[in-house]
Amino acid sequence: MESYHLRRGQVYAPCGQPEDAVTRYVRIVRPGGKRVRIADAATGRREREVDVNRLHEFPTRNGVERRTGYALVETREWLWDLTDRALRQYPYTVSSTTIGQDVHRGGCVRLEPQPAVEAVRILVATLEAAAWTVEPTTLYPDELRVRFQGQSRCPSMYVAPGDGRQYCTRWRGHADEHQDDLTLYQWEDNAPQPPAWWVPGQRLPGTPASV
Ligand SMILES: [Zn+2]
Repeated sequence: MESYHLRRGQVYAPCGQPEDAVTRYVRIVRPGGKRVRIADAATGRREREVDVNRLHEFPTRNGVERRTGYALVETREWLWDLTDRALRQYPYTVSSTTIGQDVHRGGCVRLEPQPAVEAVRILVATLEAAAWTVEPTTLYPDELRVRFQGQSRCPSMYVAPGDGRQYCTRWRGHADEHQDDLTLYQWEDNAPQPPAWWVPGQRLPGTPASV
């Protein structure tokens, strides 16, 4: 499996935390070299540099839990934690996420029970604070396409029958067919549809305020 350790945007959790502590996840802002620039994952604030040796690919070493530094976490888990906290006071949970480890590829999230604008707003604000781009998907009215810093990339996705999802990895507004560089699958254009539960006239996530 491909390693995402020490890549930009990847999320890490502090090692050796007490069980009941609130995890303060960090993300990599600038990788490379002996010093790695990190920031709080949820807000992008508190940028600082750490020695590369403090960032671990796995939370254990020789079967023993690490007590210092930070360990790479599953992007999916971090996103669940982030959105669960945001929605804690509300009767909604995020369900059926399909989020891979590659933050730039991202995935999509769905709210349960019936999505409401209130919950979607909270979700969008939370994800945008974490520098994730949120958009309606091209497939399902109650799903949101989410990925890290995705403003410049095409939002189109596609599900082949009996197959996984394909996410277009080309630039936004490209003229040729959509292509997923991971699966090399190509498909025809399909424009994002505003979700049915979205208030008419409201700015859709991912669109400029002037539109
Ligand atoms: Zn595309």
